[in-house]
Amino acid sequence: MNEEAKKLALGNYDVNFRGGEFRETAELGKTLNYAAKELSKLDTMQKELIANISHDLRTPLTMISGYSEVMRDIPNEMTPENIQIIIDETQQLTSLVNDMLDLSRLSGGKRDLKKTVFSLTDCVLQTVERFSHLKEKEGYTITFQQDGNVFVCADKVLILQVIYNLITNAINYSGKEKQVTISQSVSDGICRISVTDTGEGIPQEKLPFIWDRYYRASDFHKRGIIGTGLGLSIVKNALVMHGAQFGVSSKVGCGSTFWFELPCTDEHTAEKGSEE
Ligand code: ADP
Repeated sequence: MNEEAKKLALGNYDVNFRGGEFRETAELGKTLNYAAKELSKLDTMQKELIANISHDLRTPLTMISGYSEVMRDIPNEMTPENIQIIIDETQQLTSLVNDMLDLSRLSGGKRDLKKTVFSLTDCVLQTVERFSHLKEKEGYTITFQQDGNVFVCADKVLILQVIYNLITNAINYSGKEKQVTISQSVSDGICRISVTDTGEGIPQEKLPFIWDRYYRASDFHKRGIIGTGLGLSIVKNALVMHGAQFGVSSKVGCGSTFWFELPCTDEHTAEKGSEE
């Protein structure tokens, strides 16, 4: 066992601890085998993460340096289109870094829940308002169906982020119809927010993976869409921290509905917003 432990310390996860005949050493052997398996998983995840991050950083950086050099060397290439490409790629980098920071704060347990009582209905309205320029400029229809003003006791910043990420995805994947419907319904004191798009949908076999960080259901990268593969991972972390129910139903070619639930609270407890 000692020899195997030395190998493990050097990063060799292909070890086998055999504990001999004594019950306690046999149990220790099993635990160490389990620890080696978990450490090996962590190691693989870390390598994948670095590979993904490097890939995501490299693409915009290559574009930015490429276009800048062309504009420096060829005077006529200083066009608004080329400058726009540099701006777009910079924004892509900014959202990638922001998403990574959000996620590491959430999954690293560094962010505590700051619960207060607030109107969930107003949060959705506010978020829909943030997308109003898209409605005007690009012809998206974003509707919100609600059945009254619902209050919840939750971390407002995180819930706003959940709503924002779900609506962003619905817009990004809404296809030609450009139609996004958000609905709010209350049943047995539980409020459900659903975000539905009439877009491309997600194949059934890919559904379990979309919440994983860096997972993208379709490989092709659409220009103009700022996608990092981290949005749903942030949504999942925030909702798990709240102990909230959430899920998705989707049909290829018809669209998807992402939903989450939070218990309703009496609005009059608003002044007593608690910190946890
Ligand atoms: P991304 O930044 O790529 O959108 P997300 O974590 O938000 O990353 O989503 C992960 C993947 O799940 C997406 O790349 C996409 O393939 C799929 N997805 C998420 N929302 C939708 C949706 N509303 N319709 C279709 N596919 C979706």
